[in-house]
Amino acid sequence: MKHFRFPSEKTVLITGAAGFLGSHLCKKLLAKHDNIEVIGVDNLFSGSRFNLLELMDHPRFEFIRHDVTEPLFLEVDEVYNLACPASPVHYQHDPVKTVRTSVHGAINMLDLAKRTGAKILQASTSEVYGDPKTSPQNEAYWGNVNPIGIRSCYDEGKRCAETLFFDYRRQYAVDTRVIRIFNTYGPNMHPDDGRVVSNFILQALKNEPITVYGDGTQTRSFCYVDDLLEGMVRLMDNPDAGTTPVNIGNPHEITVRELADIILELTGSRSKVDYMNLPSDDPLQRCPDITKAKELLAWQPKVDLKTGLGKTIDYFDKLIVAQTGVLEAAE
Ligand code: NAD
Ligand code: UDP
Repeated sequence: MKHFRFPSEKTVLITGAAGFLGSHLCKKLLAKHDNIEVIGVDNLFSGSRFNLLELMDHPRFEFIRHDVTEPLFLEVDEVYNLACPASPVHYQHDPVKTVRTSVHGAINMLDLAKRTGAKILQASTSEVYGDPKTSPQNEAYWGNVNPIGIRSCYDEGKRCAETLFFDYRRQYAVDTRVIRIFNTYGPNMHPDDGRVVSNFILQALKNEPITVYGDGTQTRSFCYVDDLLEGMVRLMDNPDAGTTPVNIGNPHEITVRELADIILELTGSRSKVDYMNLPSDDPLQRCPDITKAKELLAWQPKVDLKTGLGKTIDYFDKLIVAQTGVLEAAE
């Protein structure tokens, strides 16, 4: 029997495809190009098939359940390596596995890229800057990272992965990209991932106490998922952007307490604010210098915080209604 194969221009592998960013990236690439194939790989640790439901019957999408700590043999042209739990609650659940995912996962995906000649992008993080002594953080800053604390499995794992990417580039001429992602939010975030945006929105929608850790004066800069992914794809597509890591994030810096107030206002919630202990090594400030992204990629974020939070609130609102409906139906 003759097998029909789409005459695709390229095959793109996305690891961590069932997660928050990975699922949006699969959809974005398939919507943008009508002649590429996307293979999504995930071990479903912190991601869900639910995020990919609408793609499961897509003729140019294929899902493979696989753990990136094991080697993978596929013929592909591009790899977006996103596989790694990203929220403190998830990555601290099994810290040794988190290090394995970052380090062994990077080696396995870089070996795949080396074998196939594929271009490969690493989803790195602002966590490589640790608790920064300078702000905003630019790519030349080496960071201030505790190597033995509870966040180290993630921070040091990601730092080692960056080292591997630059060594495979120098030693084996692999065509690499490294994106340093700052806090990103939007629909499809895991409701139980403990991240500040999902926690505050769910607490506000349920009129439960808003859990501010510490005194809430620590800062973060929140980027809407659509903006982040546009920067990520531009980085992958730019042949001149591989020799440096590139910060992608929204430079609008606010305190955690201010974020709580904005979410309370947007949801019209009756929640009170509860102050709780600040987890150890929680960075006090985080704000990207995006000069490089502007120059290299002509990129800057477009979605302002209130607009992005509004879309995210809508998503969690529908999720609560869907879950409550299921519960009521089961009773
Ligand atoms: P996420 O937890 O929603 O997605 C990560 C995905 O990777 C999940 O689907 C998970 O099941 C999968 N995964 C974990 N370990 C794996 C393994 N060993 N093998 C295969 N799959 C595995 O997180 P996210 O927010 O979508 O983050 C995606 C990437 O972006 C991560 O590498 C993260 O470090 C990076 N990042 C995200 C942010 C952010 O704010 N969202 C910030 C900085 C960096
Ligand atoms: N945070 C908080 N309440 C929560 C969850 C988080 O005050 O319910 C704080 C957390 O201490 C940190 C900031 O919000 O200072 C961002 O936390 P998140 O886990 O979203 O990301 P990260 O710390 O990795 O930037």
